[in-house]
Amino acid sequence: MGAGVSRIVIPAQARSLLRRLNAAGYAAYAVGGCVRDSLRGETPADWDICTDAEPAQTAAVFSDCRTVLAGARYGTVTVICDGAPYEITTFREEHGYSDSRHPDGVSFLRSLEGDLARRDFTVNAMAADADGSVIDRFGGMDDLRNGLIRCVGDPALRFTEDALRMLRALRFAARFGFSVAPETEDAIHALCGRLRAVAPERLRKELSGLLCGQAVKDVLERFSDVLCVLIPELTPCIGFRQWNYHHKYDVWAHTVRAVEAVPPTEVLRLAMLLHDIGKPASFTLDKQLVGHFYGHAVIGGAMCERILRRLRYDNCTAELVTLLVREHGFYLLEDSPKRMRKLLSQFGEETVHLLLQVRRADGIATGTAEGAAEKTAVAERLLESVSAQCVSLPQMKLNGEDLLRLGVKQGPQVGAILKTLLDAVLDGRLENERDPLMQAAREMIDKSDVFL
Ligand code: ATP
Ligand code: MG
Repeated sequence: MGAGVSRIVIPAQARSLLRRLNAAGYAAYAVGGCVRDSLRGETPADWDICTDAEPAQTAAVFSDCRTVLAGARYGTVTVICDGAPYEITTFREEHGYSDSRHPDGVSFLRSLEGDLARRDFTVNAMAADADGSVIDRFGGMDDLRNGLIRCVGDPALRFTEDALRMLRALRFAARFGFSVAPETEDAIHALCGRLRAVAPERLRKELSGLLCGQAVKDVLERFSDVLCVLIPELTPCIGFRQWNYHHKYDVWAHTVRAVEAVPPTEVLRLAMLLHDIGKPASFTLDKQLVGHFYGHAVIGGAMCERILRRLRYDNCTAELVTLLVREHGFYLLEDSPKRMRKLLSQFGEETVHLLLQVRRADGIATGTAEGAAEKTAVAERLLESVSAQCVSLPQMKLNGEDLLRLGVKQGPQVGAILKTLLDAVLDGRLENERDPLMQAAREMIDKSDVFL
């Protein structure tokens, strides 16, 4: 963003919505994230519009389009324009917040100023008219230039109104690599306990956004207190010394490095955040003053499952993250196709791929493991070559029908023989080819008449 830029390009469709409202005699602006992202030189995901038209009036202006009035009580009408939804919201202010969560009420306003003033951060409190001229009443452009997340108005007051804003500040800081302005940061440290009153569904979304941000490490280091409010089980990890020459860092310092070292997907970032959460509970110090954490992955897996349920993560995410935490200490020799076949057979290709990412990040984040990245690259190649081989029953070139034809009785013995044969294939004792498999099956059947 060049200094003094005060005009953005509004795409044709959004511009035409603004102009239609203007033509009907209403004020209308693009507002919030789309203005911020345009000024940063990014393409906004969606264009939110604010106006002095009330919901019914907005709906009347767009009577030729599909409109959704579900949010009308709060001033929002969704207008579907050529298949794309646009949220058009009446200028409003929110008041009350007696529970630090929901406004007790909203009232519609006549002017843009009040609507900008209720927004959370200066960089989110800018608007642009149909020509793209930016309206910036709170120094949002300066803060964008200087990389700062700063509350609109008094931070303590704004966080008391809606505690979620504290987590949003961290989410935006992590996403853009911004700092949090000093007074805003102070208020977060002072008031973060109030996040306990926020609905887990709202927390979860912001937490995942924070974890997937490019500057997640800085934010986790600086705001571990906030993380510990969301996930109290992390508290003993902060500064927990490992007493182990494999580890250069304490558990939390290791954790934040591990989070940063995986690709920014929700599952992987959550897995790294929680992968060592079982360490404090499993710590032992031996006579040589070396620390051990026997069983920490299994203990951590159980903790992880409870934490993710509490934060209302969906089952699929909770189960996968829990598996990655529980299994993160899996052993693999990069030159052992046999071991890789077994891992593949146990977890499936996608999960093994994730486990390798976890192991890579875990190694890098110890600060002592040489070649963790290179070893993973070797393992990835092994995974590729082995996954084409037989690792599951459907891939095996002999099936239940074949056994029945050899005279085996229908029943559990069919599965038992198939499993024994698959184990032999995974072990490399038997080739996955018709003849050797049939031969081995015949031998098993001959040896034991219980199958017949
Ligand atoms: P993103 O690209 O992540 O969607 P965004 O800025 O659009 O970023 P939203 O959560 O979609 O963020 O919110 C849209 C706008 O509404 C924000 O830019 C901000 O102006 C305002 N806003 C959202 N949540 C709050 C809140 N809790 N308190 C005050 N203002 C808020
Ligand atoms: Mg948005």
